[in-house]
Amino acid sequence: MPPIVFQGKRCIKMKFGTYMFLPEKAEGFDFNLFRVKPEVGRRMPPREDSYSNIAIFGDNVTARNHPDWISQSPLGPAWRTNNNFNVRWDILCHTQPEHRAEQLDYIEDVARHSPGVWLNSIHFAEHGHCTCPRCNEKWQKSGLSWLEWRRKEVTDYMAEVSERVRDRAKKKFVIGVLPDPVTSYERFGINFDDLAPLTDEFLVVMFSKNYATPWYWEMLTRAFKKTFKEVPLNISLYVFGPGDDPKEVATPAELLTVSVRMARAGVDNLLYLTEGASQMADFQKAAVDKVELRERLRTYGGKPVQEYLDFVKSWDKIVQ
Ligand SMILES: [Zn+2]
Repeated sequence: MPPIVFQGKRCIKMKFGTYMFLPEKAEGFDFNLFRVKPEVGRRMPPREDSYSNIAIFGDNVTARNHPDWISQSPLGPAWRTNNNFNVRWDILCHTQPEHRAEQLDYIEDVARHSPGVWLNSIHFAEHGHCTCPRCNEKWQKSGLSWLEWRRKEVTDYMAEVSERVRDRAKKKFVIGVLPDPVTSYERFGINFDDLAPLTDEFLVVMFSKNYATPWYWEMLTRAFKKTFKEVPLNISLYVFGPGDDPKEVATPAELLTVSVRMARAGVDNLLYLTEGASQMADFQKAAVDKVELRERLRTYGGKPVQEYLDFVKSWDKIVQ
C-alpha cells in the first residue's frame, strides 16, 4: 500500500507534552518540557521530572552584560529593536568563544540534572549575520562560501553540544528549529541533514502570535523564491471576495504588514484580489489612512520595502 500521509518512520505512539515557563506540571500529559533558560536569558534550576529547554544565542541577559557580543549585519546588530529582522530577542554572535564555552558546560550540567535537553536558538540570527570582525576572519580563513561557512559553524557547534548531552551525560537530546523548512540554510545556517544524526528528535515551535501571520507569509515567499529561482514571483493577496464576511477577511493593517514582509523577502510583484473596484477603493482608502503603521513599516527593511510604501503613498491622490 502506498504511504497515505507522509514518508518516514513515525513514533510508535504519539505522546503529548507540556511546555512551560514556570516550574509547574499539569495533569494528563505524557511528558513535560520546562524553560530552564528561555531567550530572555534568565536561568532556573532544572527539574528531575521535566526535560530542560535552553536557548543558546538568543539571550537578553548576556547581551545586556556583554553588548559587544551582539551579532552584526549590514542591516544593523541583532538587538530585538531592529525591525529589519524577525528577532524577538537580543541575539549573540554565533562564534563568540566565551559564550560558546560557557553554554557547553552549562548545557552538560543541566543535562545531568534532568532527563534531557531540548535546545532553541542554536543558529545565526538571520540572513546576513554575523559580520563582526571575528566572523569575517573565520570565514576568510575557512576557504568556504559565506553560506557554507555558516553551515559548518552551526553543525560543528551542535556536534559538540550533542556529544556533551548524549555521550557524556547520557541523556536525550532534541534540537529546536524555527518554522522555516526551506530557507533555514540561507537565513540561519541550518542544514537539517547535518543535524539529523546529532539529535534524537527535532522540535518546531509554531503559532506564536508574535510572528504568526507575517512570519509564515514571509517564509513562504522566501521558499517560493528559492524554488522558482530566476523566474519572477507574483503573489496575490486575498482582500475581499464575492460573498465574504467582512469579519473573516484580513484587515488592511495585516495586508500592509504582510506586503512589506513579502517585499523584503524578495517577491517580484504583488496583486490584490477583490470582487470589484469598490472593494479595492475601500482597501486603498484604509491603507492610506494607516499613517502611523506605514511609518513604522519603513523601519522593516531596505529598498524593496521603501518602494512598496512609496507605492501605497501614491494612493493619496486617488482616495481624496
Ligand atoms: Zn560574529
